[in-house]
Amino acid sequence: MIEEMLKNAGLKKTKQRNLILEIIKSSSKPITAEKIFEIIKSESNNTNLSTIYRTLNILCEKSLLLKILKSDGTASYQLNDASHKHYITCCACQNSVLIDSCPIKDLSDKIVNETGYIVTGHSIELTGICPKCNKK
Ligand SMILES: [Zn+2]
Ligand SMILES: [Zn+2]
Repeated sequence: MIEEMLKNAGLKKTKQRNLILEIIKSSSKPITAEKIFEIIKSESNNTNLSTIYRTLNILCEKSLLLKILKSDGTASYQLNDASHKHYITCCACQNSVLIDSCPIKDLSDKIVNETGYIVTGHSIELTGICPKCNKK
């Protein structure tokens, strides 16, 4: 599946790209570059953080990945496929909860119709106060 994703995006298969996509795919939540770095480093020392950032940027440009930017400035990554997820994050305790459906799917289709653009991806994150923090 990952090989196919790279092929469809016109990207050459490299060990690093494969590894990063593999890690993101197996992660249940969006994952940060630092976390990916830790995982790769624990298996082999043959990488550094800037290489990982570079690879992540390429994969985002080619729309294989969605980048999620949090209000605190940290970015995390997830696969940009039909199973991509959105989260709502509590601004007080930073807890995240999964949102079941993609809230922008219909809007995105409408924009395609109206503008003729090909939408290659989107990034949306909701912030709020979780019920626990709301009680305080
Ligand atoms: Zn909270
Ligand atoms: Zn979505």
